[in-house]
Amino acid sequence: MLNIKELTIEKAGEMMKKGELTSVDLVSACLKNIEEKNKELNVFLEVFNDAIEQSKKADEMIKNGKGTELTGIPIAIKDNILITGYVVSSGSKILENYVASYDAFVIKKLKEAGAVLIGRTNMDEFAMGSSTENSAYGPVKNPIDPSRVPGGSSGGSAAAVASGMALGALGSDTGGSIRQPASFCGLVGMKPTYGVVSRSGLTAMSSSLDQIGPFAKTSRDAKIIFDCIVRYDEMDSTSVDFSLSGVGHPIVGCPTPDKKVVGVPRDFLKDGVDIEVLKSFEESLEKLKNKGYEIKDVVMPLLEYSLPVYYIIMPAEVSTNLSRLDGVRYGLRKEGDNIFDSYKKSKSIGFGSETKRRIILGTYVLSHGYYDAYYNKAWKVRRAIIKEYEDIFKEVDFVMTPTAPTAAFKFGEKKNPLQMYLEDIFTVSANIAGIPAISIPSSLSSIGLPIGVQFVGPAFSDESLFAIEKDLGDNK
Ligand code: GLN
Repeated sequence: MLNIKELTIEKAGEMMKKGELTSVDLVSACLKNIEEKNKELNVFLEVFNDAIEQSKKADEMIKNGKGTELTGIPIAIKDNILITGYVVSSGSKILENYVASYDAFVIKKLKEAGAVLIGRTNMDEFAMGSSTENSAYGPVKNPIDPSRVPGGSSGGSAAAVASGMALGALGSDTGGSIRQPASFCGLVGMKPTYGVVSRSGLTAMSSSLDQIGPFAKTSRDAKIIFDCIVRYDEMDSTSVDFSLSGVGHPIVGCPTPDKKVVGVPRDFLKDGVDIEVLKSFEESLEKLKNKGYEIKDVVMPLLEYSLPVYYIIMPAEVSTNLSRLDGVRYGLRKEGDNIFDSYKKSKSIGFGSETKRRIILGTYVLSHGYYDAYYNKAWKVRRAIIKEYEDIFKEVDFVMTPTAPTAAFKFGEKKNPLQMYLEDIFTVSANIAGIPAISIPSSLSSIGLPIGVQFVGPAFSDESLFAIEKDLGDNK
């Protein structure tokens, strides 16, 4: 009997290559786990009924010697990534019946590689949240302790991998939505450098911050998914075209730094961080020291402004991006007495409260009279944060912090939105600076909850982040 909870993409791929396992068996085992656990955990909004069909094709590909590292591997897809012919709801009622008319770039790449798309995963509405409690389809439960949240907003994708319903998953990360749920579910989660993975076909939350990235059990597995989706795409105007640089592709196969100096912004770790998270962080530092890493305290006074900057720029972009959901062009429509009444009814019924809060906040900071005071100022601070990182990376290879200030918390525990926003204190700055970051499991808390540690690297150092895990030892 296959134990999907323990099986890696790497191992499953080897087994399939040797003929010891078929994709049909692998996908069937995942479907069985879904059947047994999805009702309770609420991970998948839809399981694709052609999954077995896809796996048969993958088995053919392998048989014909055309297999890749992802051929036949079941991958779960966050419900804000478009797959032709399937509903893509972004966890919202307003898009409940919206069917994608094209494949997102990353989906095209996964299909070309022969991966099996197993289903679309539950998420916070329009990727706004840190617990998946904001989904219009009910919260996802953490497979490690179902009385707790799996993190968010990509909680469904994280829970799918952690519960053996898929071997890997795609999420999107605007302020931490891959790394924080990875940390809560004991997985590796990675946010790439802005522009190296196409956003074409990703339902936009905040366009200058969003990136798609992988979830997996190991860095090696996460890298397999990453390597498949990191390509130039002419359909995304922010996609990085490496061919123009004349140096080929600097990310795939880029060397890892050998001096390995890790910067720790000590001042930033003082307040509000759970004692067990701090302890786990210190243990990880020790492990790295023993592996020959140099650990250096760094002073980054602007990091504390990341969250305020995020909560101005992100809602501004949210209000702009979601304005198209007006009951006319896309999604749910409720007839009113006139066009404005229809807008009002469609949005009032279609959007949940966190989405409404951010649309209102974003409209406010973009409004005449407040634009200079908030939005413009936030962009100035954003540039200063980018510069602070650039300067720090002249001294160190990575900046290391805990991924989140806590381990997985209980449902309803963070009632005040501000408390919830603080969950992203360590993750948002990488999105603000457009640089890559990874969350790696560091240890378990005294009650067995996973804790993660985060490494942030300079732009385009993505591949080197995957190499750190082996120096942290076995943390499961
Ligand atoms: N938790 C953050 C928020 O609510 C980040 C979300 C994300 O990365 N999509 O905005």
